[in-house]
Amino acid sequence: MHELAVTQSILDLVLDHAAKADATQITKIYLVVGELSSIVDESVQFYWEIIAKDTLAEKAELVFRRVAATFKCLECQTVYHLDGQVVFCPSCGSSRIEILSGEEFYIEAIDIET
Ligand SMILES: [Zn+2]
Repeated sequence: MHELAVTQSILDLVLDHAAKADATQITKIYLVVGELSSIVDESVQFYWEIIAKDTLAEKAELVFRRVAATFKCLECQTVYHLDGQVVFCPSCGSSRIEILSGEEFYIEAIDIET
């Protein structure tokens, strides 16, 4: 159900943008999805085909770009990527870490036809 709400908000945003730009059709939507976000591409695609029907975005292609999870250790300042399920610092083992990226989910760009 989570993805349904997310997909609805994407649709609302792109339709709003398309209306302002006098678009006749939305052709592509570029989405950025962090590795740590719980968004599942297939679920978004699934809901999209249902809710975008009969709108300007009906034929839009969804393009997903995954962003790797990046952490920074607050003890030794090491910056590292997620390795499996291990999130502790690989250098000093600290669990005092900051998430630099990987939680994002947003629309990067859309292509329209006017
Ligand atoms: Zn460390």
